[in-house]
Amino acid sequence: MDLIENLANAFAGKEVEKVPAASIVSVALVEGMERTGAGFPESHTNAEKMLQLGESAHRFAGVESINLPFDLAIEAEAMGCKVDLRDANEHIPEIIESPFFDDIESVDLCDDFLSNGRIPVVAEAISLGREKYPDIPMIAGQIGPFTLLGQIVGIEYLMKCLATQPEAVKQGVEICADAVIEVVKAYNTLDIQGDCMYEPSIAADLLPPEMFDDFVTRPLERIAKAADYNMVLHVCGDTTPILNHTLDLGYNGFSFEDCVNVKNANKIKHDLNSNTQLVGNIATDSLFHGKMDSIREETFRALDRGIDILGSSCCVPPGTPLKAMECMVKARDEYYEKGMEVNRERNEADISWTPDYHDVVLPVANIHHMTTIKRKARA
Ligand SMILES: [Zn+2]
Repeated sequence: MDLIENLANAFAGKEVEKVPAASIVSVALVEGMERTGAGFPESHTNAEKMLQLGESAHRFAGVESINLPFDLAIEAEAMGCKVDLRDANEHIPEIIESPFFDDIESVDLCDDFLSNGRIPVVAEAISLGREKYPDIPMIAGQIGPFTLLGQIVGIEYLMKCLATQPEAVKQGVEICADAVIEVVKAYNTLDIQGDCMYEPSIAADLLPPEMFDDFVTRPLERIAKAADYNMVLHVCGDTTPILNHTLDLGYNGFSFEDCVNVKNANKIKHDLNSNTQLVGNIATDSLFHGKMDSIREETFRALDRGIDILGSSCCVPPGTPLKAMECMVKARDEYYEKGMEVNRERNEADISWTPDYHDVVLPVANIHHMTTIKRKARA
């Protein structure tokens, strides 16, 4: 089973050789930039450099996908905003001017949206990657509609408008969803295996969960329907209060952070009879600080609890060492070598995710236990 088939099976909820250690969220590391000579900001604007940086986590750390682009300003830029690409490797592009700022009713999608800005660069980089790596999953990415609206009108203003101009917000989100769908349709013509839509602004601390259905369910569902490939929704922070929404929108995957318990998510997924696979959720903090023991432990735990696609909890911080990403992939391999998928299968067969489900004792819940296991394996 090659990596493309393995990832496709994971998205389809079918049997996998190993849970894919693919990066669905962005992984553009300074070490990768140094080793390939493809740094920021060139890798935002030059398709060859974009691919060089995108492929580096696969080449040097064994990550089972190639993920690009690396910033969330592309769609706003194509809608007419001015973007500062910034010059240092750690810094991602920033929107500095918007024609829609503080004026939600002015939000509009220009006719030349798709040919604007860097969308054609991303498409070219994906095509180059497909040619160079016929067997490796290519993962694209773009912003979500509510977050895009917040970017172009200003997030604080948008929060105010939720109360003062709810109808204008709804219309604005739909227009932004139209923009995202344009991008999705353009990506439909490319041979990609997945796509991550970043929608951090629908987190419960920004958009109250009781407003979720009113403001974002329909546009998010429209986007999911438009994609001919596996589409993953990513929301930052503690998404536990909105899992009943995010797992029920028709996405092929939901990517969430380490503060969300994978087992709880699995239970909700089961209750909803959802086909949305669980993606994540190794802490960016562990990855960034290169805490190899924590990465290993979190990987084992996520696998035990039934994660479907293993990866970082959020966009991997640029300063993260490549070794940390490699550690996650190797911990996944070690998990299978030690036969722990039996534990995972038992968890799933139980259907552990019935309402009276009781927590099982995790065999690798702390690092001391893991040391014991290691010794036994050697004896
Ligand atoms: Zn995030």
